[in-house]
Amino acid sequence: MANAQIRSPSVAIIGAGMTGILMAIRLREAGISDITILEKAEKVGGTWRENTYPGVACDVPAHMYTYSFRANPQWSNRFAHGDEIQGYFEQVAREQGLSEQIRFNEALEQCHYRDGKWHLTTSKDAQLVVDFVVSATGILHHPAYPDIPGLESFGGDSWHTARWNHDVDLSGKRVGIIGTGSTACQVISEISETDCDLTVFQRTAQWVVSVPDKEYSEAEKTRLSRDPSRLALLRRRYAFVLRNTFSKAVTGSKLPHLLVSWLAKRNLRKNVRDPELRAKLTPDYPVGCKRLIISSRFYEAMQRDNVHLETTAINNISEQGVVTVDGITHELDVLILATGFKPFDFMRPMDLRGRDGVTIDEAWEKKVQAYRSICIPGFPNFFLMLGPNSPIGNYSVIAMSEVQTDYVLKLIDLWRSGELPTVEATEDAKQRYNAYLKAGMGKTVWVRGCQSWYLDADGDPAMWPYSWEQWVHEHEVPVLDDFVHQPPAEVEPLRPAA
Ligand code: NAP
Repeated sequence: MANAQIRSPSVAIIGAGMTGILMAIRLREAGISDITILEKAEKVGGTWRENTYPGVACDVPAHMYTYSFRANPQWSNRFAHGDEIQGYFEQVAREQGLSEQIRFNEALEQCHYRDGKWHLTTSKDAQLVVDFVVSATGILHHPAYPDIPGLESFGGDSWHTARWNHDVDLSGKRVGIIGTGSTACQVISEISETDCDLTVFQRTAQWVVSVPDKEYSEAEKTRLSRDPSRLALLRRRYAFVLRNTFSKAVTGSKLPHLLVSWLAKRNLRKNVRDPELRAKLTPDYPVGCKRLIISSRFYEAMQRDNVHLETTAINNISEQGVVTVDGITHELDVLILATGFKPFDFMRPMDLRGRDGVTIDEAWEKKVQAYRSICIPGFPNFFLMLGPNSPIGNYSVIAMSEVQTDYVLKLIDLWRSGELPTVEATEDAKQRYNAYLKAGMGKTVWVRGCQSWYLDADGDPAMWPYSWEQWVHEHEVPVLDDFVHQPPAEVEPLRPAA
């Protein structure tokens, strides 16, 4: 921004995952040094630290799942494995000198806005007062446990995929897995190769598109590291393909949807020969309604002799195993819950209160909504990264975070220059924004008759219904009229930055 900077902000970032690291880097580049990063765990990485299940990988090509400013010619595979991605974030944090700056094992418990500042209390009982809070707590980090009677009574070992128990060896065991989402498909593909006896409990079939993985040879890695333009081209190519196929297919473009549907249906037809199994694996909703699964291994795994698909609904769980509604008990030694996450919990259970002591639960009592996914009226100078209606799906969440981070920095600059007394979207702007989102939802595939984690409690998709390009364009310049201009009484008058 061209204006002189009058104020110098202090910023607290909650979470040292992909977005928290990014935000810290960008803030420092903008000359903001008073940054506190609170991380509840012992190391950076967020979702990649938490998800260590067998087969964990990113189904977005690795060269796109990379910060734009820190390419990585060393990725081993087209679809990077979880531990390699975790290593990448740890390395970036180290290179940037962030590892020493992050306050590890310290969660934010209270976050209250009063007297024009955010007052924070951490799990170590430390108190902090800052101008801005950035919630970089991720979307999918609160495991959803299934509401199945008797779950607690199971006598064997049981865990959620995001809390994998590496102490239990599955070999020779009778293993059950509930769920067939993206996570389950990766787990099934991997553990079916061991000598366990695996029963897959499927409630709803999923569409799967096969994109083969590929290992990068040492020669290719060397070529990529010697020639950054080659690397940049690879990234642009992947971005182009994803935007014009998967992203467009779900937001109402007919041809991309026909193409992706054909790919998914052909994959099933070609790779599952047994008509009975194929029928069970055939979804009854349009391709893309649930998040599309990218896997070249899942169907092969489902046809292994040690894998059984169970589609009879689960009635309850007993000490011995899973009881289906036909009265059969599927006896198990291990029960794996691949049942997904609670995407609308965001920063909760943090005690978050905005202006006038309004809690986040009160603000979201009717609906979890934000202005441009990021700003919540009543919560000045608070930014929710990857909030509701971020264009998540089969695209790089890093690319999304980069756009949102740049936008947040523009907003902070408006505060620094004094153009905005606080950064607070108006209620009216939030409502207009959400009406605009709703107007686009009708043509998307998410509303065409399936249940998914994309949908909120009212059945509305919390997704971005337009193109990626439109989303980027709309974050280029903040619309000043959408923000509160009247300084609240409690905001300190402007003073020159030190
Ligand atoms: P998910 O897509 O929400 O899938 C949960 C699965 O559990 C579904 O099959 C669901 O069945 C089943 N389920 C839930 N409760 C159940 C119950 N009570 N009884 C029976 N079945 C039940 O969760 P996820 O697989 O963990 O994936 C979540 C998201 O994480 C993905 O969509 C993706 O965005 C992200 N992810 C990404 C990658 C990647 O490679 N980039 C990998 C893994 C995950 P229904 O379908 O019938 O509800």
